[in-house]
Amino acid sequence: VFEVHLCGIKHNVETIGTIAVFYDITHLKKLEKMRKDFVANVSHELRTPLTSIKGYAETVLYEKDLEKIKEFTSIILKHTNFLIKLTHDLIELSRIESVGFRVEKEHISLKELIEEIMETLREKAQERGIGMEIKIKDNQTIWANEEKARQVFNNLIDNALKYTEKGKIEISAEGQNNFMLIKVSDTGIGIPKKDLTRIFERFYRVNKNRSRTLGGIGLGLSIAKHIVETHGGEIWVESELGKGSTFFIKWPR
Ligand code: ADP
Repeated sequence: VFEVHLCGIKHNVETIGTIAVFYDITHLKKLEKMRKDFVANVSHELRTPLTSIKGYAETVLYEKDLEKIKEFTSIILKHTNFLIKLTHDLIELSRIESVGFRVEKEHISLKELIEEIMETLREKAQERGIGMEIKIKDNQTIWANEEKARQVFNNLIDNALKYTEKGKIEISAEGQNNFMLIKVSDTGIGIPKKDLTRIFERFYRVNKNRSRTLGGIGLGLSIAKHIVETHGGEIWVESELGKGSTFFIKWPR
C-alpha cells in the first residue's frame, strides 16, 4: 500500500513539472488492521459472557426455587472464571509482547518440569481414560525461565487433553546440537490442514463453539509461541484430522 504526495514545480508562473513521492505504508496499514482486529476480538470475547452474566443475575434476583438459583449461580461463576482467565491471558500477552521483554534463565530439568505438570493434570486425564507417557531422560535440560517454560508446556499438554477423546498423550525429548527437540503428541481430534499455521494467531480457534464449551479463548498458543521465540526457540505443529496432533518445540539447551 502506497501513499502518494504530489507537489507541482513552477518556474515563474508556469508549471514545469510535478514531483510524486511514494510512501510505502504497507506495514503501518497492517499494524492498524491488527490493532483493530484485536480490539474487535477482545470486545466480542467480553460481550458474550457479560451479557450472559447480566441475564442470569437478573433472573436470580427474582427466582424463588433454590435449585434454579444454584444452577444459574453456577453459570454466572463459569462465565466469571472465563473472564478472569481472559484478563490474565491478555495481561500476559501484552507483557511478553512489549519491547525489551526479558526473562531470567537457568538450566531446567525437562523431566522434572513435565512430571510436575503431568501431576496437576493426572486426575483430569484419568477421569477421561486418557493415558499419559513421558519419554525424557533424567539429564536432559533446557535453558529457560522456569515459570515461562511451565506455561508453554502446561498450555500444550492441557490442549492435548482438551482436544483428545480417547487414546494417549506422549511427551518426548531428544538432544540435537544446541537444542532439545521436544514433542507433545496426542491421539485427539486433529487440526485441519488450512488451520495449521493460523492456530498460533491471537484468538484463532479452529472451531469457536467447540473451543468455547471446553473453556478455550484462543490465546494459549500465541502466548506459547511468544515465550518460545523469546528464548530463541521455534514451535510448529503437524496434525492429521481424526488421528491426532504433534507439537514440536526446538528449545535451546
Ligand atoms: P484455546 O484456548 O481455544 O484452546 P489455543 O491458542 O490454545 O486456544 O489453541 C488454538 C486452537 O488450536 C484451539 O481452539 C484448537 O482448535 C486448536 N488446537 C490447539 N491444540 C490442539 C490439539 N492438541 N488438538 C487439536 N486442536 C488443537
